[in-house]
Amino acid sequence: MTNITLTIIKPDAVKDGHTGAIIDQIIKAGFSVKAMKLKHLSEAEAGKFYEVHKERPFYNDLVKYMSSGPVVPMVLEKADAITGFRTLIGATNPANADEGTIRKNFGKSIESNAIHGSDSDDNAKIEASFFFAGTDIY
Ligand code: GDP
Repeated sequence: MTNITLTIIKPDAVKDGHTGAIIDQIIKAGFSVKAMKLKHLSEAEAGKFYEVHKERPFYNDLVKYMSSGPVVPMVLEKADAITGFRTLIGATNPANADEGTIRKNFGKSIESNAIHGSDSDDNAKIEASFFFAGTDIY
């Protein structure tokens, strides 16, 4: 699989009713949805997803936040998906994100920043298989 990224609409954005608007912005930017579901992660599952960050000071808060309500993971496809999607979502801290980006539009704080995007092709594959069986990716 090339040209794919894994995104997660995070709990605050789902809770606040922004799922539809965020998916609309993603599709209008030219991404195709290859897999999608609603899932409430347990703390153990959120901890595993963010294992790479376990030495960072915000890890425990991040795990609690990501397991605080349902999320919407999606596999997305577009040429140069990783870079293109990181540009579409904007900087980690919504306060520093460019106008019109998803984090600027819907993020509340550096933690509750509305959306995740894979940072490399290798991680996109790992993250896609965390949420989806190969047969669930179209
Ligand atoms: P990303 O690749 O832009 O998502 O950023 P990182 O990989 O650095 O961080 C992963 C996630 O951890 C971010 O999307 C935020 O939800 C959260 N996060 C990042 N930095 C901080 C921080 O300084 N404090 C807190 N509480 N959360 C953070």
